[in-house]
Amino acid sequence: PGGSPLLELSNVEVTYSGVILVLKGINIIVPERGCVALLGPNGAGKSTTLKAVSGVLKTEEGLVSAGQVRFAGERIDTLAAERTVRRGILHVMEGRKVLEHMTVEQNLVAGGHLQRSRDAKESLELTYEYFPRLADLRGRTSGYLSGGEQQMLVIGRALMARPKLMMIDEPSLGLAPLMVEEIFSILHRLRQEDLALVIVEQNTAAALALADYGYVLDNGRIVLDGTAESLRSNEDIREFYLGLG
Ligand code: ATP
Repeated sequence: PGGSPLLELSNVEVTYSGVILVLKGINIIVPERGCVALLGPNGAGKSTTLKAVSGVLKTEEGLVSAGQVRFAGERIDTLAAERTVRRGILHVMEGRKVLEHMTVEQNLVAGGHLQRSRDAKESLELTYEYFPRLADLRGRTSGYLSGGEQQMLVIGRALMARPKLMMIDEPSLGLAPLMVEEIFSILHRLRQEDLALVIVEQNTAAALALADYGYVLDNGRIVLDGTAESLRSNEDIREFYLGLG
């Protein structure tokens, strides 16, 4: 991808528990305001890649054992997750963990806690613009939301921190097609913001319609990368890696 890299992974290896080598030297570039899709089969290492960037890896006995992760020119591969958040990296993990007993708005406000109160208020308005459904549900207890609404809430909560980089793991997982469409259309609109996106997604067609560039991982390596356009039209790989038939 063109432009100056916001995020750069160079020859990154990751081990779990010091023994299991899960990423075997991967190179990824995410430009400022770019959108990159990570694709590939289950267990390929996509979630691990996001965790290596956000620092969540360390809470799971994982370690970047070789290579470098650089964000805005600085090495971040030794930082804990709380530190990467402060630098503007927001990782929306698989599984949609909302604060169930709190309202939608309280969840969102929690996402903006690092900002000054005036900025947080502005972020809340911005978030409601992108997610009008969350505005309608603002007083609702979050635990009672549907799966799709909870997925919107975790993305909205990440947006509240006004990230420079948002990484989203499997936003469509377990959702009805109409809800997937709604969430992706919001992600398309979010690209107007000054932020870069990395998305891990089994719904390859939706991911490649959103992204500028894609990487296909298999067994801890990048087996293919290219513009979203070129991946969509590459007949050889469509069926085997992307399931597009
Ligand atoms: P999925 O879509 O299934 O999450 P993925 O491409 O995101 O696939 P990862 O979750 O990154 O893959 O997993 C990559 C490999 O690392 C898998 O073999 C998985 O079993 C292993 N792995 C993941 N987390 C851990 C952990 N905490 N300890 C040990 N091995 C792990």
